[in-house]
Amino acid sequence: MSEYFHSVRLEKEKCKGCTNCIKRCPTEAIRVRNGKAKIIKERCIDCGECIRVCPYHAKKAVTDPFEDIFNYQYRVALPAPTLYGQFKNVWDIDMILTGLKRIGFDDVFEVARAAEVVSLATKRFFESGRVKKPAISSACPAVVRLISVRFPNLIDHIIPIKSPMEVAARLAKRKISLQTGLKQEEIGVFFITPCAAKMTSTKVPVGSDNSFVDGVIAMKDVCLKLAAILGKIDDVEKLSTSGMRGICWAKSGGESAALGDEKNISVDGIHHVIKVLEELENDKLSDMDFVEALSCTGGCVGGPLTVENNFVAKNRVRQIAALNDKRDSVEESAYLDAIDIAWTNHVTYRPVMKLDNDMIEAMKKMEILEEIYKELPGLDCGSCGSPSCRALAEDIVRGFATETDCIFMLREKVRTLTKEMMDLESKMPPAFRKEEE
Ligand code: SF4
Ligand code: SF4
Repeated sequence: MSEYFHSVRLEKEKCKGCTNCIKRCPTEAIRVRNGKAKIIKERCIDCGECIRVCPYHAKKAVTDPFEDIFNYQYRVALPAPTLYGQFKNVWDIDMILTGLKRIGFDDVFEVARAAEVVSLATKRFFESGRVKKPAISSACPAVVRLISVRFPNLIDHIIPIKSPMEVAARLAKRKISLQTGLKQEEIGVFFITPCAAKMTSTKVPVGSDNSFVDGVIAMKDVCLKLAAILGKIDDVEKLSTSGMRGICWAKSGGESAALGDEKNISVDGIHHVIKVLEELENDKLSDMDFVEALSCTGGCVGGPLTVENNFVAKNRVRQIAALNDKRDSVEESAYLDAIDIAWTNHVTYRPVMKLDNDMIEAMKKMEILEEIYKELPGLDCGSCGSPSCRALAEDIVRGFATETDCIFMLREKVRTLTKEMMDLESKMPPAFRKEEE
């Protein structure tokens, strides 16, 4: 699988070239050229911000079709806890999990349960003394990718523990294989995702060579199927085992609360995350122990593949979690011993912003970039199709744009040319001059 697989894609025919998306992209990964947006794949972190802001729905997240579950002999749903907050008047998690079995799955394994296991592993990691503080959560794949392209000095701060989705997939395969005698490859585990970044992280895994997730289905697709049957289920099965700590991972602050430490902060929304990471890089938050950073506003409840308003969903998840706060967690340790939860591969710096592989060449190009930048108007209007004047200067140096892509530079050039032509005309031999009226 390509190093640059991306779930977020452009539907070219829908794009009107309005430039709305270029300024919101946190890694300056979008350009508009010839009236159409283009995503620079090396830079995209699949945060989904451009999906939210495009007024023409020209950006989308590619996920797997629901029908893929029927390619497996035994099918397990891995619902992200965000799913619990999507339905009005549904407060019973077992109702939702039973619904998943009614629409085609044979069993369910809650990602909230796996989140509790990850919380325990994180606590033990802190106790080990090997933590570089402030430690940064590795739960949001968009944030991990952001750090790998923009904040190389923070890579060692990322907690090297697999995500709840991956932990759930490994635990589910193991459990069902032991229960049924089926081989793990005969068991299909499908994550029900609120976001695009999770899809990407199953194709280009973070912290390991391969993912145990066999498919990723958009939460909105599953919600559509569930909404049709939820009110009609009368034999609700007792399936849920997750408690308050795991369920609250669906919203910002949930992971921090599960750790129970006072010296931690929680930040959500990719642009807020960038501000906090900049402060971390500048040593302004060195007294903190832990940073929970989530790309979507409000946490996973704000993912672009959800159906409910993120504020409403956040509140509902909080209430549902409170209804389940008495669940005990005796199995967490056993789960932790059953699988390898630590990263086997480490995140590496991907210097996608560098101008040249050769240091001397890169410095020369930087000087030219600065010269060009000085000449640009500094309005960051985006009408050139680059997100800022600096980005246009960079695009010119890289050979992807010209100075006259800037409307102000073009106007200056037209003025200069007009003046030169008028001067030339006045120097014409008398026989060719126009007769003055
Ligand atoms: S998904 Fe995020 S990083 Fe990728 S192009 Fe869209 S806004 Fe930029
Ligand atoms: S927001 Fe971006 S993708 Fe959507 S129409 Fe405008 S330029 Fe195209």
